[in-house]
Amino acid sequence: MSCINESVCKLCRRENVKLFLKGDRCFTDKCSFDRRPYPPGQHGQSRLKFSEFALQLREKQKTKRYYGVYERQFRKYFDEADRRRGVTGTELLRLLETRLDNVIYTLGYAASRREARQLVKHDHFLVNGKKNNIPSFNLEKGDVIEVNEKSRGINKILAGIESAKKREMPGWLEADYGAFKGVVKDVPARENISLAVEENMIVEYYSR
Ligand code: SF4
Repeated sequence: MSCINESVCKLCRRENVKLFLKGDRCFTDKCSFDRRPYPPGQHGQSRLKFSEFALQLREKQKTKRYYGVYERQFRKYFDEADRRRGVTGTELLRLLETRLDNVIYTLGYAASRREARQLVKHDHFLVNGKKNNIPSFNLEKGDVIEVNEKSRGINKILAGIESAKKREMPGWLEADYGAFKGVVKDVPARENISLAVEENMIVEYYSR
């Protein structure tokens, strides 16, 4: 993904929101966005007027970057959300939020979504007792996530747990760090999703 090669903190400043791409650092006073909450570059601090299209595009880009998803994949999520009953924007966020990599990060078994993706690909997790190395795998209510027994001493996982203890767990998930497990208690409601995005603008962007 192109954004991975850019300085990730610049992405937060460009999107004008904390995307939490750097693990623990995002929660310290070293966070670049907290220190310079304006877009990078020469005109970063000037007040620019954006067209409706530009605003819609920014909301899409912000969401894509937050979850670390490629454009094609993001479009597929939108199409799937559009087919579902319910509000398209909410369904889109729900699909992204229930990705295995996002759930691993939110539970605290990785310090960032990117790290969660790597750990999942390297076979460190089970879903309902079976190995699962697909970061985009969508979890459902009742699914149980577990750290592979052989992986329970991995520093990244242990550090992720320590970091997660400082954060609030959304109500739809439950972690049991003693057993290295997590449970999807429910499908996430919109208010459980902390990303500050106007998802209706993403719907408008794709409905042009
Ligand atoms: Fe974004 Fe701050 Fe984390 Fe950098 S440290 S990725 S600016 S939230």
